[in-house]
Amino acid sequence: MATTPARHDPDVLVIGAGVVGLFCAWFLRQAGHTVTVVDRHEVGDPAACSAGNTGFVGTQGSAPLAEPGVAAKGLRWLLDPESPFHVRPRRDAGLLAWLWHFRRHCTERHARAGFEVLLALKQRSLAILREVCADGDLADTLTARGMVLACRTEQGYAQARRGIPAAVERGVPLRELDRAELARLEPGVDFAIAGALLNEEGAALRIPAFLLGFARLLRERGVEIVTGTEVRDFEVTGRRVRAVRTSRGDLHPTEVVIAAGVWSAACARTLGVGLTLQPAKGYTVTVPAGPGTPRLPMLLSEGKVAVMPLGDRIRVGGTLELSGLDNSVSPRRVDGILRTVRSYLPGLDTDRRLHVWSGLRPCTPDSLPLIGRAGTYRNVSVATGHGHIGMGLAPAGGRLLAQLLDGKDPDLPLETFALDRFGRGRR
Ligand SMILES: Cc1cc2nc3c(=O)[nH]c(=O)nc-3n(C[C@H](O)[C@H](O)[C@H](O)COP(=O)(O)OP(=O)(O)OC[C@H]3O[C@@H](n4cnc5c(N)ncnc54)[C@H](O)[C@@H]3O)c2cc1C
Repeated sequence: MATTPARHDPDVLVIGAGVVGLFCAWFLRQAGHTVTVVDRHEVGDPAACSAGNTGFVGTQGSAPLAEPGVAAKGLRWLLDPESPFHVRPRRDAGLLAWLWHFRRHCTERHARAGFEVLLALKQRSLAILREVCADGDLADTLTARGMVLACRTEQGYAQARRGIPAAVERGVPLRELDRAELARLEPGVDFAIAGALLNEEGAALRIPAFLLGFARLLRERGVEIVTGTEVRDFEVTGRRVRAVRTSRGDLHPTEVVIAAGVWSAACARTLGVGLTLQPAKGYTVTVPAGPGTPRLPMLLSEGKVAVMPLGDRIRVGGTLELSGLDNSVSPRRVDGILRTVRSYLPGLDTDRRLHVWSGLRPCTPDSLPLIGRAGTYRNVSVATGHGHIGMGLAPAGGRLLAQLLDGKDPDLPLETFALDRFGRGRR
């Protein structure tokens, strides 16, 4: 049910009530602004990417998607409809430009630099989440008991082990897990793997419980969240947005933040601002938990599938498909995810599917978010592009956005996240 529209014009209007928009609102409110968040759907509506994902938020998985070797695998993956990464071939200049930038970032140097930034964001985000989820309704939406990285092949295991020193050097408590310890941590789980690592700082959010609880907390703190309200256009005078036209009337905020996930590109385009952003579809499947179900969140390394225990259920998620703004479910890809899961965890019963969900990740070619002023507009900013790890980046990203608007010293250099770092982007 749609909530009532804003009763007053806020200092800041945030477009999008996904995890990114909500964390922008959190830090803007903390800085003393009046904040309204608008969304065309309810908070937690399955159309939002934040609503059905696996919720991993620890320091694991801080690598950018563009890595050495990914471009070479690309052609093989392109032809395999069950591969973890897929590009649906189509004539789309925006997609080609994105792929060109992605290919350029598949180098050791870029991957290392990207890892440093993503890890710094994830470490800050985890600290913020620990505070936000310290008590109250949100207390049981964050689990921080560690995460297992399971490797099916000797080659994958050797590669994962090679990453330990670099991770440890940067403060990530990653280590090898021997068979006996794995059996102690996961009693009764049947593994078909070559080996595993443990990230003791591994953490995960229960989704959508976290999102719904966080929205409640924001309302308690005075943030107005207006749902069932679509932003359709802007009234512009000179270099300022004077009014935001919504399906339920005009709003006149002092500042506008576009945090509309994959739809941010269309929103910014209305203002003539191009974003280098592509939707990357993924799926989660929720099945009942059984006796052979893992207790800790687990990443199935080579298959790029996440496994998230949720009490009496277990959610598995994966695939990254550059298929445009289309969130239809491909049964073949869903079967592929479940086959991957069974190849690591043969004892897990995946026959009864309680829920299948697809979501569109807002992805940039270098996997870093877009956080910055929109073009030459004096009162419009963008916060999007948090990609495959948006739950784990949104808290620190929200604080950066608030620092940008208030002209405060940012936690990390804002140039790193500038909207025009790939050129001006396609309009
Ligand atoms: C299968 C899968 C698994 C994932 N697992 C993880 C994980 O384990 N860990 C992790 O960190 N990340 C994960 N992610 C990524 C994460 O879900 C996203 O990065 C994150 O949810 C993006 O949040 P967002 O707020 O930018 O976008 P969204 O959640 O999509 O929110 C955007 C909102 O904007 C609203 N909106 C759009 N246009 C308008 C408009 N014109 N007017 C009003 N409202 C508008 C939409 O309705 C929507 O609610 C996963 C993603 C997928 C698909």
